[in-house]
Amino acid sequence: MERRIYLDNSATTHTDAEVLQKMLPYFSDVYGNGSSQHFFGREALAAIDEAREKVAKAIGAKPSEIYFTSGGTESDNWAIKGAAHALRAKGNHIITTAIEHPAVIQTCKRLEKEGFEVTYLPVDDEGFVTADQVENAITDKTVLISVMTANNEVGTIEPIREIGAVAKKHKVLFHTDAVQAIGNVPIDVVKDNIDMLSMSAHKFYGPKGVGVLYKRTGVKTERFMDGGEQERNMRASTLNTPGIVGLGAAIEKAVRDMEKNNAHVKELRDFFVAEVLANISDVRYNGTKDTSRRLASNANFSFEYIEGESILMSLDLAGIAVSSGSACSSGSLEPSYVLLSLGVPIELAHGSIRFSFGKDNTREEVEYTLTKLYEVVARLREMSPLFKKFEGEKKYV
Ligand SMILES: *Cc1c(COP(=O)(O)O)cnc(C)c1O
Repeated sequence: MERRIYLDNSATTHTDAEVLQKMLPYFSDVYGNGSSQHFFGREALAAIDEAREKVAKAIGAKPSEIYFTSGGTESDNWAIKGAAHALRAKGNHIITTAIEHPAVIQTCKRLEKEGFEVTYLPVDDEGFVTADQVENAITDKTVLISVMTANNEVGTIEPIREIGAVAKKHKVLFHTDAVQAIGNVPIDVVKDNIDMLSMSAHKFYGPKGVGVLYKRTGVKTERFMDGGEQERNMRASTLNTPGIVGLGAAIEKAVRDMEKNNAHVKELRDFFVAEVLANISDVRYNGTKDTSRRLASNANFSFEYIEGESILMSLDLAGIAVSSGSACSSGSLEPSYVLLSLGVPIELAHGSIRFSFGKDNTREEVEYTLTKLYEVVARLREMSPLFKKFEGEKKYV
Protein backbone atom coordinates (compact mmCIF):
# COMPACT_ATOMS: atom_id res chain seq x y z
CA MET A 1 0.00 0.00 0.00
CA GLU A 2 1.62 3.23 -1.03
CA ARG A 3 -0.39 5.65 1.11
CA ARG A 4 -1.43 5.43 4.75
CA ILE A 5 -3.78 8.26 5.60
CA TYR A 6 -5.44 8.15 8.99
CA LEU A 7 -8.76 9.99 9.17
CA ASP A 8 -10.18 8.07 12.12
CA ASN A 9 -8.83 10.16 14.99
CA SER A 10 -12.09 9.89 16.92
CA ALA A 11 -11.63 6.12 17.16
CA THR A 12 -8.14 6.53 18.54
CA THR A 13 -5.03 8.65 18.04
CA HIS A 14 -1.40 7.66 17.79
CA THR A 15 0.69 8.14 20.91
CA ASP A 16 2.54 11.42 20.52
CA ALA A 17 6.31 10.86 20.15
CA GLU A 18 7.19 13.13 23.11
CA VAL A 19 4.60 11.40 25.26
CA LEU A 20 6.02 8.00 24.36
CA GLN A 21 9.55 9.14 25.29
CA LYS A 22 8.32 10.20 28.72
CA MET A 23 6.67 6.80 29.25
CA LEU A 24 9.64 4.63 28.31
CA PRO A 25 11.67 4.79 31.56
CA TYR A 26 8.63 3.52 33.45
CA PHE A 27 8.75 0.24 31.53
CA SER A 28 12.44 -0.29 32.22
CA ASP A 29 14.27 1.59 34.97
CA VAL A 30 11.42 2.83 37.13
CA TYR A 31 9.38 -0.32 37.36
CA GLY A 32 8.48 -0.24 41.05
CA ASN A 33 4.97 -0.75 42.35
CA GLY A 34 3.60 2.66 43.34
CA SER A 35 2.29 1.14 46.57
CA SER A 36 5.68 -0.22 47.69
CA GLN A 37 7.48 1.53 50.53
CA HIS A 38 11.02 1.28 49.15
CA PHE A 39 12.66 3.69 46.75
CA PHE A 40 11.55 1.78 43.65
CA GLY A 41 7.97 2.30 44.76
CA ARG A 42 8.52 5.91 45.80
CA GLU A 43 9.91 6.79 42.35
CA ALA A 44 6.86 5.32 40.67
CA LEU A 45 4.53 7.06 43.11
CA ALA A 46 6.21 10.41 42.50
CA ALA A 47 5.60 10.04 38.76
CA ILE A 48 1.98 9.04 39.37
CA ASP A 49 1.44 12.01 41.66
CA GLU A 50 2.92 14.35 39.07
CA ALA A 51 0.55 12.98 36.41
CA ARG A 52 -2.38 13.37 38.82
CA GLU A 53 -1.49 17.02 39.28
CA LYS A 54 -1.32 17.57 35.52
CA VAL A 55 -4.75 16.04 35.01
CA ALA A 56 -6.23 18.07 37.85
CA LYS A 57 -4.75 21.28 36.47
CA ALA A 58 -6.06 20.56 32.97
CA ILE A 59 -9.69 20.45 34.13
CA GLY A 60 -9.65 22.75 37.14
CA ALA A 61 -9.91 19.94 39.70
CA LYS A 62 -7.92 18.98 42.79
CA PRO A 63 -5.42 16.11 42.56
CA SER A 64 -7.37 14.25 45.27
CA GLU A 65 -10.39 14.20 42.93
CA ILE A 66 -8.56 12.29 40.17
CA TYR A 67 -8.83 8.48 39.97
CA PHE A 68 -6.88 6.52 37.37
CA THR A 69 -8.78 3.81 35.51
CA SER A 70 -8.29 1.53 32.52
CA GLY A 71 -10.02 3.91 30.10
CA GLY A 72 -13.18 5.74 29.14
CA THR A 73 -15.40 2.68 29.36
CA GLU A 74 -14.35 1.87 32.91
CA SER A 75 -14.74 5.48 33.99
CA ASP A 76 -18.28 5.62 32.55
CA ASN A 77 -19.21 2.30 34.18
CA TRP A 78 -17.81 3.35 37.51
CA ALA A 79 -19.38 6.80 37.54
CA ILE A 80 -22.84 5.62 36.58
CA LYS A 81 -23.12 2.28 38.36
CA GLY A 82 -21.11 3.50 41.32
CA ALA A 83 -23.28 6.56 41.88
CA ALA A 84 -26.56 4.77 41.12
CA HIS A 85 -25.81 2.00 43.61
CA ALA A 86 -24.61 4.42 46.28
CA LEU A 87 -27.79 6.50 45.93
CA ARG A 88 -30.27 3.63 45.52
CA ALA A 89 -32.06 4.49 48.75
CA LYS A 90 -32.64 8.04 47.54
CA GLY A 91 -34.09 7.24 44.13
CA ASN A 92 -33.88 5.05 41.07
CA HIS A 93 -34.14 7.48 38.16
CA ILE A 94 -31.32 8.39 35.77
CA ILE A 95 -31.38 10.90 32.93
CA THR A 96 -29.13 10.52 29.90
CA THR A 97 -29.38 11.04 26.13
CA ALA A 98 -30.14 8.80 23.19
CA ILE A 99 -26.75 9.50 21.58
CA GLU A 100 -24.34 8.57 24.37
CA HIS A 101 -21.44 6.22 23.70
CA PRO A 102 -22.25 2.51 24.28
CA ALA A 103 -20.16 2.70 27.48
CA VAL A 104 -22.93 4.90 28.91
CA ILE A 105 -25.98 3.47 27.09
CA GLN A 106 -25.17 -0.16 27.90
CA THR A 107 -24.35 0.72 31.51
CA CYS A 108 -27.77 2.34 31.81
CA LYS A 109 -29.41 -0.73 30.20
CA ARG A 110 -27.75 -2.87 32.84
CA LEU A 111 -29.12 -0.63 35.58
CA GLU A 112 -32.61 -0.88 34.06
CA LYS A 113 -32.39 -4.67 34.57
CA GLU A 114 -31.64 -3.94 38.24
CA GLY A 115 -34.78 -1.84 38.57
CA PHE A 116 -33.52 1.63 37.73
CA GLU A 117 -35.56 3.81 35.41
CA VAL A 118 -33.65 5.60 32.69
CA THR A 119 -34.83 8.52 30.56
CA TYR A 120 -32.97 8.65 27.22
CA LEU A 121 -33.55 12.23 26.12
CA PRO A 122 -34.06 12.68 22.38
CA VAL A 123 -31.82 15.11 20.50
CA ASP A 124 -32.73 17.58 17.77
CA ASP A 125 -31.76 17.10 14.12
CA GLU A 126 -28.31 18.54 14.79
CA GLY A 127 -27.68 16.30 17.81
CA PHE A 128 -28.31 18.73 20.67
CA VAL A 129 -30.11 18.32 23.97
CA THR A 130 -31.05 21.37 26.00
CA ALA A 131 -30.80 22.14 29.68
CA ASP A 132 -34.60 22.66 29.64
CA GLN A 133 -35.14 19.11 28.42
CA VAL A 134 -32.96 17.86 31.25
CA GLU A 135 -34.76 20.01 33.82
CA ASN A 136 -38.19 18.86 32.65
CA ALA A 137 -37.14 15.22 33.00
CA ILE A 138 -36.04 15.57 36.64
CA THR A 139 -38.33 13.90 39.20
CA ASP A 140 -37.99 13.47 42.96
CA LYS A 141 -36.47 10.04 42.20
CA THR A 142 -33.69 11.37 39.95
CA VAL A 143 -30.22 10.61 41.32
CA LEU A 144 -27.97 11.07 38.30
CA ILE A 145 -27.73 12.98 35.02
CA SER A 146 -25.17 11.80 32.44
CA VAL A 147 -24.73 13.85 29.27
CA MET A 148 -21.65 13.63 27.06
CA THR A 149 -19.56 16.74 26.49
CA ALA A 150 -19.08 15.99 22.78
CA ASN A 151 -20.47 13.24 20.59
CA ASN A 152 -18.10 10.77 18.98
CA GLU A 153 -20.02 10.28 15.71
CA VAL A 154 -21.28 13.73 14.75
CA GLY A 155 -19.12 15.93 16.96
CA THR A 156 -21.89 17.96 18.57
CA ILE A 157 -20.77 19.80 21.71
CA GLU A 158 -23.56 19.67 24.27
CA PRO A 159 -24.41 22.63 26.56
CA ILE A 160 -22.90 20.94 29.59
CA ARG A 161 -22.37 24.11 31.61
CA GLU A 162 -26.11 24.85 31.49
CA ILE A 163 -26.97 21.21 32.14
CA GLY A 164 -24.56 21.19 35.06
CA ALA A 165 -26.26 24.30 36.47
CA VAL A 166 -29.66 22.60 36.25
CA ALA A 167 -28.27 19.52 38.00
CA LYS A 168 -26.78 21.67 40.75
CA LYS A 169 -30.03 23.61 41.24
CA HIS A 170 -31.94 20.36 41.74
CA LYS A 171 -29.14 18.75 43.79
CA VAL A 172 -28.74 15.88 41.31
CA LEU A 173 -25.30 14.48 40.45
CA PHE A 174 -23.99 15.40 37.00
CA HIS A 175 -21.62 13.09 35.11
CA THR A 176 -20.19 13.88 31.68
CA ASP A 177 -18.39 11.56 29.28
CA ALA A 178 -15.71 13.98 28.09
CA VAL A 179 -13.70 11.34 26.23
CA GLN A 180 -14.05 13.13 22.88
CA ALA A 181 -13.76 16.59 24.38
CA ILE A 182 -10.45 16.58 26.24
CA GLY A 183 -7.89 18.55 24.24
CA ASN A 184 -10.62 19.84 21.91
CA VAL A 185 -13.04 21.71 24.17
CA PRO A 186 -11.99 23.78 27.21
CA ILE A 187 -13.34 22.20 30.41
CA ASP A 188 -13.43 23.56 33.93
CA VAL A 189 -15.19 21.17 36.28
CA VAL A 190 -16.00 23.96 38.73
CA LYS A 191 -17.41 26.48 36.25
CA ASP A 192 -19.12 23.71 34.29
CA ASN A 193 -20.74 22.31 37.46
CA ILE A 194 -19.43 18.81 36.78
CA ASP A 195 -19.52 16.24 39.60
CA MET A 196 -17.97 13.36 37.66
CA LEU A 197 -16.09 13.30 34.36
CA SER A 198 -14.65 10.47 32.24
CA MET A 199 -11.63 10.71 29.97
CA SER A 200 -9.38 8.32 28.06
CA ALA A 201 -5.74 8.94 27.14
CA HIS A 202 -5.80 7.30 23.71
CA LYS A 203 -8.27 9.89 22.40
CA PHE A 204 -5.79 12.74 23.05
CA TYR A 205 -2.49 11.32 21.76
CA GLY A 206 -1.77 9.28 24.86
CA PRO A 207 -1.53 5.50 25.27
CA LYS A 208 -4.42 3.04 25.19
CA GLY A 209 -5.79 1.33 28.29
CA VAL A 210 -5.59 4.23 30.71
CA GLY A 211 -8.17 6.82 31.68
CA VAL A 212 -9.44 8.97 34.49
CA LEU A 213 -12.58 9.38 36.50
CA TYR A 214 -12.79 12.79 38.11
CA LYS A 215 -15.06 12.74 41.17
CA ARG A 216 -15.76 15.97 42.97
CA THR A 217 -14.91 15.92 46.70
CA GLY A 218 -17.91 14.62 48.60
CA VAL A 219 -19.45 12.66 45.72
CA LYS A 220 -20.14 9.17 46.96
CA THR A 221 -19.85 6.14 44.71
CA GLU A 222 -19.31 2.46 45.29
CA ARG A 223 -15.72 1.38 44.84
CA PHE A 224 -15.09 0.03 41.37
CA MET A 225 -13.15 -3.14 42.12
CA ASP A 226 -12.48 -5.00 45.31
CA GLY A 227 -8.91 -5.74 46.22
CA GLY A 228 -6.04 -3.59 47.42
CA GLU A 229 -6.34 -0.09 48.73
CA GLN A 230 -5.07 1.79 45.69
CA GLU A 231 -6.65 5.09 44.65
CA ARG A 232 -7.74 5.99 48.17
CA ASN A 233 -9.31 2.57 48.57
CA MET A 234 -11.75 3.22 45.72
CA ARG A 235 -10.18 1.38 42.78
CA ALA A 236 -8.06 -1.67 43.48
CA SER A 237 -5.19 -2.95 41.30
CA THR A 238 -1.57 -1.95 40.84
CA LEU A 239 -1.37 1.38 39.09
CA ASN A 240 -0.33 1.42 35.43
CA THR A 241 2.68 3.70 35.90
CA PRO A 242 3.78 4.03 32.24
CA GLY A 243 0.20 4.59 31.10
CA ILE A 244 -0.48 7.14 33.81
CA VAL A 245 2.75 9.01 33.04
CA GLY A 246 1.70 8.99 29.37
CA LEU A 247 -1.78 10.25 30.19
CA GLY A 248 -0.34 13.08 32.28
CA ALA A 249 2.12 14.13 29.57
CA ALA A 250 -0.56 13.86 26.89
CA ILE A 251 -3.18 15.95 28.66
CA GLU A 252 -0.65 18.64 29.52
CA LYS A 253 0.38 18.90 25.87
CA ALA A 254 -3.17 18.58 24.50
CA VAL A 255 -4.47 21.41 26.65
CA ARG A 256 -1.41 23.59 26.03
CA ASP A 257 -1.72 23.14 22.25
CA MET A 258 -5.52 23.10 22.07
CA GLU A 259 -5.96 26.35 20.16
CA LYS A 260 -3.20 25.62 17.68
CA ASN A 261 -4.38 22.05 17.03
CA ASN A 262 -8.01 23.09 16.74
CA ALA A 263 -7.17 25.81 14.24
CA HIS A 264 -5.20 23.39 12.06
CA VAL A 265 -7.76 20.60 12.23
CA LYS A 266 -10.67 22.97 11.63
CA GLU A 267 -9.04 24.37 8.51
CA LEU A 268 -8.61 20.85 7.11
CA ARG A 269 -12.15 19.85 8.07
CA ASP A 270 -13.80 23.00 6.71
CA PHE A 271 -11.92 22.66 3.42
CA PHE A 272 -12.88 18.99 3.16
CA VAL A 273 -16.56 19.63 3.90
CA ALA A 274 -16.81 22.50 1.42
CA GLU A 275 -15.18 20.43 -1.32
CA VAL A 276 -17.38 17.38 -0.72
CA LEU A 277 -20.56 19.46 -0.78
CA ALA A 278 -19.43 21.25 -3.94
CA ASN A 279 -18.33 18.18 -5.87
CA ILE A 280 -20.57 15.28 -4.86
CA SER A 281 -24.32 15.30 -5.50
CA ASP A 282 -26.91 13.74 -3.21
CA VAL A 283 -24.83 14.01 -0.07
CA ARG A 284 -26.02 15.04 3.36
CA TYR A 285 -23.74 16.64 5.97
CA ASN A 286 -24.85 15.16 9.31
CA GLY A 287 -24.68 17.10 12.56
CA THR A 288 -24.57 20.82 13.09
CA LYS A 289 -23.16 23.38 10.66
CA ASP A 290 -22.46 25.68 13.61
CA THR A 291 -18.71 25.16 13.87
CA SER A 292 -18.62 26.75 17.34
CA ARG A 293 -20.74 23.85 18.62
CA ARG A 294 -19.02 21.02 16.75
CA LEU A 295 -15.66 19.32 17.31
CA ALA A 296 -13.22 20.83 14.84
CA SER A 297 -12.06 17.33 13.91
CA ASN A 298 -15.42 15.89 12.86
CA ALA A 299 -17.10 15.56 9.48
CA ASN A 300 -19.93 13.08 8.96
CA PHE A 301 -21.62 12.54 5.60
CA SER A 302 -24.34 10.34 4.21
CA PHE A 303 -23.83 9.48 0.55
CA GLU A 304 -27.16 8.60 -0.96
CA TYR A 305 -27.66 5.36 -2.91
CA ILE A 306 -24.52 3.66 -1.62
CA GLU A 307 -23.52 1.75 1.49
CA GLY A 308 -21.11 3.29 3.97
CA GLU A 309 -19.37 -0.08 4.28
CA SER A 310 -18.62 -0.12 0.54
CA ILE A 311 -17.13 3.37 0.68
CA LEU A 312 -15.10 2.45 3.74
CA MET A 313 -13.68 -0.67 2.09
CA SER A 314 -12.85 1.13 -1.15
CA LEU A 315 -11.09 3.93 0.73
CA ASP A 316 -9.29 1.32 2.81
CA LEU A 317 -7.92 -0.21 -0.38
CA ALA A 318 -6.73 3.25 -1.40
CA GLY A 319 -4.87 3.60 1.93
CA ILE A 320 -7.37 5.91 3.61
CA ALA A 321 -8.76 4.97 7.04
CA VAL A 322 -12.24 6.24 7.93
CA SER A 323 -15.18 4.93 9.93
CA SER A 324 -18.76 4.05 9.11
CA GLY A 325 -21.21 4.41 11.95
CA SER A 326 -19.22 4.07 15.15
CA ALA A 327 -16.11 1.95 15.42
CA CYS A 328 -17.79 0.02 18.19
CA SER A 329 -20.60 -1.18 15.96
CA SER A 330 -18.62 -1.71 12.78
CA GLY A 331 -19.03 -5.28 11.68
CA SER A 332 -22.72 -5.06 12.53
CA LEU A 333 -25.05 -4.06 9.75
CA GLU A 334 -27.24 -1.96 12.01
CA PRO A 335 -27.22 1.69 11.00
CA SER A 336 -25.89 4.11 13.59
CA TYR A 337 -28.36 4.78 16.41
CA VAL A 338 -26.81 8.22 16.74
CA LEU A 339 -27.69 9.20 13.17
CA LEU A 340 -31.17 7.69 13.53
CA SER A 341 -31.63 9.81 16.68
CA LEU A 342 -30.81 12.90 14.62
CA GLY A 343 -33.63 11.90 12.29
CA VAL A 344 -31.38 10.75 9.46
CA PRO A 345 -33.53 8.39 7.32
CA ILE A 346 -32.46 4.77 7.65
CA GLU A 347 -31.31 4.44 3.99
CA LEU A 348 -29.09 7.47 4.45
CA ALA A 349 -27.79 6.33 7.81
CA HIS A 350 -26.59 3.20 6.02
CA GLY A 351 -24.56 5.34 3.64
CA SER A 352 -22.71 7.35 6.25
CA ILE A 353 -19.02 7.88 6.83
CA ARG A 354 -17.19 9.69 9.62
CA PHE A 355 -13.96 11.46 8.72
CA SER A 356 -12.10 12.58 11.85
CA PHE A 357 -9.02 14.72 11.40
CA GLY A 358 -6.02 14.88 13.69
CA LYS A 359 -3.21 17.30 14.48
CA ASP A 360 -0.75 15.54 12.17
CA ASN A 361 -2.94 15.31 9.07
CA THR A 362 -1.89 17.52 6.18
CA ARG A 363 -3.67 19.49 3.48
CA GLU A 364 -2.07 17.20 0.91
CA GLU A 365 -3.60 14.14 2.60
CA VAL A 366 -7.00 15.78 2.53
CA GLU A 367 -6.64 16.60 -1.17
CA TYR A 368 -5.63 13.02 -1.94
CA THR A 369 -8.62 11.76 0.07
CA LEU A 370 -10.98 14.01 -1.88
CA THR A 371 -9.67 12.73 -5.21
CA LYS A 372 -10.11 9.12 -4.10
CA LEU A 373 -13.50 9.80 -2.55
CA TYR A 374 -14.84 11.28 -5.80
CA GLU A 375 -13.67 8.20 -7.70
CA VAL A 376 -15.09 5.76 -5.17
CA VAL A 377 -18.48 7.44 -4.90
CA ALA A 378 -18.80 7.74 -8.69
CA ARG A 379 -17.84 4.09 -9.23
CA LEU A 380 -20.22 2.75 -6.58
CA ARG A 381 -23.05 4.91 -7.90
CA GLU A 382 -22.39 3.61 -11.42
CA MET A 383 -23.60 0.28 -10.04
CA SER A 384 -26.71 1.75 -8.42
CA PRO A 385 -29.90 1.70 -10.53
CA LEU A 386 -31.58 3.94 -7.94
CA PHE A 387 -28.93 6.60 -8.35
CA LYS A 388 -29.50 6.72 -12.11
CA LYS A 389 -33.23 7.06 -11.57
CA PHE A 390 -33.25 9.63 -8.76
CA GLU A 391 -29.93 11.51 -9.03
CA GLY A 392 -30.20 15.10 -7.89
CA GLU A 393 -33.64 14.80 -6.30
CA LYS A 394 -33.18 16.44 -2.94
CA LYS A 395 -35.51 14.09 -1.09
CA TYR A 396 -33.88 14.32 2.32
CA VAL A 397 -31.49 17.22 2.55
C1 LIG B 1 -13.74 6.11 22.90
C2 LIG B 1 -14.88 6.54 23.75
C3 LIG B 1 -15.20 5.88 24.94
C4 LIG B 1 -14.49 4.64 25.38
O1 LIG B 1 -13.19 4.88 25.80
P1 LIG B 1 -12.15 3.66 25.94
O2 LIG B 1 -10.95 4.24 26.58
O3 LIG B 1 -11.89 3.18 24.55
O4 LIG B 1 -12.81 2.62 26.79
C5 LIG B 1 -16.23 6.36 25.72
N1 LIG B 1 -16.93 7.46 25.34
C6 LIG B 1 -16.66 8.13 24.20
C7 LIG B 1 -17.44 9.34 23.85
C8 LIG B 1 -15.63 7.69 23.37
O5 LIG B 1 -15.37 8.35 22.23
